[in-house]
This record gives sequence, C-alpha cells and structure tokens, in this order.
Amino acid sequence: MNLPGALADRQMTLPGWTPEHQERLGKSRVFLAGVGGVGGVVAQYLAMAGVGELVLVHEGALEFPDLNRQTLMEMSGLGKSRAGLASERLSRQVPGCRITAIDARISPWMEPLAGSADLLVDARTNFEERFLLGSLARKLEKPLVFAAMNGMEGMVVPLRPGSGPCLECLFPEGDPAWDPLGFPVLGAISGAVGAMAAVLSIRILSGYGGSPDSRMTLFEGMDLSTRSYRIAKNGRCAACREGAEEQGSDHEKIWRRE
Ligand SMILES: [Zn+2]
Repeated sequence: MNLPGALADRQMTLPGWTPEHQERLGKSRVFLAGVGGVGGVVAQYLAMAGVGELVLVHEGALEFPDLNRQTLMEMSGLGKSRAGLASERLSRQVPGCRITAIDARISPWMEPLAGSADLLVDARTNFEERFLLGSLARKLEKPLVFAAMNGMEGMVVPLRPGSGPCLECLFPEGDPAWDPLGFPVLGAISGAVGAMAAVLSIRILSGYGGSPDSRMTLFEGMDLSTRSYRIAKNGRCAACREGAEEQGSDHEKIWRRE
C-alpha cells in the first residue's frame, strides 16, 4: 500500500528512516493471529504505519467483557464476528490497507496464507493455537512475533525459527498456569504489549535499525519496568530436532539475563 504522503510524513522524519523502509512496509503482508486486546492494537499500528496487507484470524463473536481492552471493537458490534468487525474498523481507519478476515481458530489449513506472509504475529490466548502457529513458523521459516499479557504483566519475543529459537524452545510444554478464558486484564496493559509487538513487527518488516535481537522482553506494569533476556535455541527442543545430546539446556538456562 502507498500511504498518502502526508500520512507517512511523521515516521519518514525518524532518524535513518528511508523511503526504502516505507516501501518495504507497503509491500508487506502480515498474518496476525488474534485481534483482541493485544492483536487489535498490533493491527492498528501496522495499518497506520503503512503495512500493505493484513490477514486477521480470530474466532468468535464480540461479547461485553471484551470491550475493556479490544480497541477495534465498538458496543454496536456485540454478537458479531470479531474478525469481521476488526476488518470493517481498520478499513475505515486506514483505507487502502488490504485486509482478509477469517473467523476461525488457527488451523493447519492456513499454511498457504501463513506461507505467503512476510511475518506472523501471535496474539492468541491459548497454547493450542500458539503451538500451531509456532509450528507453521518453523516449517515455513517465517519470523514470528510472540506477544502475551496477564494482569499487569506482558511479554514480547521476536522469533526466527530455523536460525534462532522456536516457540517450543521457550515453552516446551506450554504453560499450564495460563487460563485462556479467565485471566485478569487491564486493557491498558494489553495496549502497551500490543504497541511493543507492533514496534518489533515494523522493524522486522522494514529493516529499520536492523533485525531485532533475539530477546524476551518482560514488561511489569506496576512499576513500568522492563527486563530483557537474550534467548537461544533449547538443545532439547524436539520441535527443532536439534541437540539430541545430553548437554542440552534446561529451561532456565536458555535465558541469559542482561
Ligand atoms: Zn525449538
């Protein structure tokens, strides 16, 4: 998508931002899993930055409790498909951004859609869908931005399966403590995490500032602090089929705090 010049003016003045960065965004297609509290904000900022095409995947209709955080949703949409609502809203907000909306859970049949994308973004709330998307990223060797939140905390991780760690390197068995339906949410924390994931996505797509380091960043909303851990492949990761030897790292060892 070519944004009208004036719309891109402010980011074009970023130090080191060139027309090539903007052009890369315009030619980019992003496969986005989730348009809720985190994913909706990612979608908005990617569209506003000039990303050419978004594939939005989210199952289910809008319910009242969603409205404390899902910035693409409006009360008039109660009972309607959230994927469809997100598409309608973004089309009004940034006309020209091509959008495909799919009201479904992440499934293996979506491989061609993921394969045609330049970046996958994971903003789901359950590990079943996260692992499916992670496995598509690994198979297709696509960069993946992982974003998650719970209560007053958030987490963002850029992953490059193949050359770097995959999702299962970090979470070999998911996290049974995650409750996909009942976890507490302050909407502003979702927004903060979504914005961080959008920054990573824009850098990966445009090349601005080079590739983001392989780091897991944790955000603590109570004191507005972040902690960053360098991440590496887990030698015992069955999904990566690497490091069958015993010296593989334990889960704790894959993070090196800096
Ligand atoms: Zn792995």
